[in-house]
Amino acid sequence: MRRSEFIAGGAAAVALVALAFPRRVLAYAVHYTNAQWKARLGADRYYILRENGTEPAFSSPLIKENRPGLYRCYACDQALFSSATKYDSGDGWPSFWNVLPKATLTRADYEIPMEPRTEVHCIRCGSHLGHIFDDGPPPTHKRYCIDGLALRFVPK
Ligand SMILES: [Zn+2]
Repeated sequence: MRRSEFIAGGAAAVALVALAFPRRVLAYAVHYTNAQWKARLGADRYYILRENGTEPAFSSPLIKENRPGLYRCYACDQALFSSATKYDSGDGWPSFWNVLPKATLTRADYEIPMEPRTEVHCIRCGSHLGHIFDDGPPPTHKRYCIDGLALRFVPK
């Protein structure tokens, strides 16, 4: 590929991203450079929150956390989930059947071929939190499958 073609491809990709995300979403209230995020979060949390990584199943101590309280975004402290909607899904990650109002955004994830998933991101800083599935309990029947490293639990 010639350099000019590469640049044109890059511009097209940027245009596609701009189409996929409304303008208000592109300007997150909390914003840092990648180097700043890495310094703030450390390698493991940076991988989850900023590089869409997934922690190993059953690795998070928050799976067993049953006290009342709030689960906040580790990157920016946005309140994301209430302990009132947490449940034990047995899937190996902290799970919730609902999210707090206006706390997250979703995005299609096609990383696994033939298995499209829905990613969950923090509305305030854009950090990746995990995925949503449709096999949760009532009343929502949603399963927010969230990386424990993306969360900070604050007991009531
Ligand atoms: Zn955040």
